[in-house]
Amino acid sequence: DRVKIRRALISVSDKTGLVDFAKGLADLGVELVSTGGTAKALAEAGLAVRDVSDLTGFPEIMDGRVKTLHPGVHGGLLGIRDDAAHAAAMDEHGIAAIDLLVVNLYPFEETRASGASRDTIVENIDIGGPAMIRAGAKNHGYVAVVVDPADYQEVLGALKENAGETSIALRRQLAARAYARTAAYDAAVSGWFAESLGETTPKRIAFAGELAEALRYGENPHQWAGFYRTGEARPGVATARQLQGKALSYNNINDTDAAFELVGEFDPARTAAVAIIKHANPCGVAEGGDLVAAYKAALACDPVSAFGGIVALNGRLDARTAEEIVKVFTEVIIAPEADDEAIAIVAAKKNLRLLLTGGLPDPRAGGRFVKSVAGGLLVQSRDAGVVDDLDLKVVTRRAPSEAELTDLRFAFRVAKHVKSNTIVYAKNGATVGIGAGQMSRVDSARIAARKAEDAAKAAGADKPATIGSVVASDAFFPFADGLLSAVEAGATAVIQPGGSMRDDEVIAAADEHGIAMVLTGMRHFRH
Ligand code: 5GP
Repeated sequence: DRVKIRRALISVSDKTGLVDFAKGLADLGVELVSTGGTAKALAEAGLAVRDVSDLTGFPEIMDGRVKTLHPGVHGGLLGIRDDAAHAAAMDEHGIAAIDLLVVNLYPFEETRASGASRDTIVENIDIGGPAMIRAGAKNHGYVAVVVDPADYQEVLGALKENAGETSIALRRQLAARAYARTAAYDAAVSGWFAESLGETTPKRIAFAGELAEALRYGENPHQWAGFYRTGEARPGVATARQLQGKALSYNNINDTDAAFELVGEFDPARTAAVAIIKHANPCGVAEGGDLVAAYKAALACDPVSAFGGIVALNGRLDARTAEEIVKVFTEVIIAPEADDEAIAIVAAKKNLRLLLTGGLPDPRAGGRFVKSVAGGLLVQSRDAGVVDDLDLKVVTRRAPSEAELTDLRFAFRVAKHVKSNTIVYAKNGATVGIGAGQMSRVDSARIAARKAEDAAKAAGADKPATIGSVVASDAFFPFADGLLSAVEAGATAVIQPGGSMRDDEVIAAADEHGIAMVLTGMRHFRH
């Protein structure tokens, strides 16, 4: 099952590491064959290289659309060396066996992301490359296929250790990577067509992901897990730079994503915002003033839960804020940027991860949200609803004051990022009680109020901060009881989607207690 590499066909768009790899192959006595640009790069580096036209007896034509699509190449990739008839066909037609194929594809994904014209994007759909990759990988009994410069060292190392031979185990592993690459490539092409058609639910859907990191385990230690990048250009945990701390776990990544998506709702040109997240739910969010003030206000909401939390900021992490954060045991800090001084303060906490994203995600951006169910995938567009874009309707006799309205918007913005059923109490730009993930909305209201009472006790305050607060509900109140529970906790104004059969009852109950209520017409379920 060992195959001596005698001839390599190299055809790469990304020339990273090419020359070193090819030199290593040449040192092992491998004959190099290449397409135009690749051959030129190798010849310039002083390497002996044959042009692929030598194998095909045919020039590259149509601006390179057809250069390796020829039996002289594909016969050399697909021929079964141990099959007498295949061997005879190779002899008869002068087909040279290719034992190693090194291809990386036209940069379709990058070209698409760069905002190039349709024609340029189409021209960057590689045809010959995937055809060769699929052919070589099918014939992995004899052919090794390398599709990623990141694999050059591993393959060269294996060849050096084994006198220039590949093992079947290595060739199988490379074949698996090869087909994953062509699948991802075609998924990107298909996704581009679907998107340019404005199709929301394409008949067939292909997903592409590249392993960013194999994780130690999943949500629990007995589950395996990996983190895959999709190539979506959205600032966040998948593309962030980690400055320090140990590797992120599955739960860390999930929670960090929730945290950063939440602060992405707050435009840094308007306000500073901080969110503290536990188990994908916020245990404190605040905006206004500067980041250090916002952090302190967010922490005050539920300081007990904040222990071991994840902190997200919508602005540049500064030294004063870093100093406050490191006082509490924190797992992860994620921010667009950080001052050197702040980085130094965080560095004192070895295990604390610091992630910098370079920017904030756009809350209004489209994109796919995927969830798996038994035997299928549920796919929907991201919840791109933003309270600022909604037509808020006052339905009670009393209209909210300006201050109440500001807090109502804030509370609804936060509620979008809390697991349903959600009740969020807020005051002065900070959450003061969050009820998350309950099967009954009344329970969420009560839990949020009780947490506010606990926080007040711990802080030595004489009354909970829900007194004189506003309250947001992610979905309508089906009965007046949920609303009354919020009133009992001390809320004076309510924001909710409306649309219940009993809206009239709920509005009447609000009027009876002098509560101001606005309807958003938009629901923010999150399960
Ligand atoms: P080079 O820079 O060597 O001229 O071109 C290398 C690129 O051409 C690689 O990305 C490879 O996948 C691609 N390629 C190789 N053969 C063909 C072909 O026959 N048609 C097309 N469209 N691309 C090819």
